Amino acid sequence: CGIVGYIGQQDSKEVLLNGLEKLEYRGYDSAGIAVLNESGLNLFKVKGRIAALRESVDESIHATMGIGHTRWATHGEPSVNNAHPHQSTNGRFTLVHNGVIENYLDLKREYLQDVTFKSETDTEVIVQLIEKFYETTQSTLESFRQAMELLKGSYAIAMIDNEDRNTLYVSKNKSPLLVGLGEGFNVVASDAMATLKVTDQYLEIHDKEIVIVKRESVSIQQLDGTVLERTPYTALIDA
Ligand code: GLU
Repeated sequence: CGIVGYIGQQDSKEVLLNGLEKLEYRGYDSAGIAVLNESGLNLFKVKGRIAALRESVDESIHATMGIGHTRWATHGEPSVNNAHPHQSTNGRFTLVHNGVIENYLDLKREYLQDVTFKSETDTEVIVQLIEKFYETTQSTLESFRQAMELLKGSYAIAMIDNEDRNTLYVSKNKSPLLVGLGEGFNVVASDAMATLKVTDQYLEIHDKEIVIVKRESVSIQQLDGTVLERTPYTALIDA
């Protein structure tokens, strides 16, 4: 399983699909991508191979940001419905997640009694929490932060807000996640292998940090909002 994300100037589909192919070795049962452009969010999900996902993607869509996922099911059978990316009820927030949210039933009970869930995954709780918190905060970053604060377990997460074509929201805990730096673009990946084709400059992300990824900048914060400085390293290309 793995995640990948791209925000830049070029069309994102190829970086995402190529990245997912490079993550195939980690094992998976389904896969999906979500790409955002001026006409909205486009979601493609399949059960089975990345080759099938590639075929299902509408070639004519041009979108300069997106997220992708290969799933190794832990909660809910392998199916198109349980495949990531997952969306909140109003469709505004879209997210991919690797790992296991150990307290997802508690979170559902405490905050999401009135929500009709579309999948059987632990993951959907995260994106529904963000939509719920947005009602009060009216801030995507704050809602994302509040949700991350509540999660127990392992996760690598990348999220898109439909109303903002300039930001990917990212966080991790006990699951691998890196941010790759480019000229006018940035990427997110579980493993540098997924994105070595586009950059060899990476930022290590530590547990429970929140990363705001834009085309020209990457900001790493602690949960309390403290902004952190981090120096990139060069990933060695293992040809
Ligand atoms: N727990 C999530 C699910 O079952 C993510 C699994 C994964 O890491 O791929 O959908």
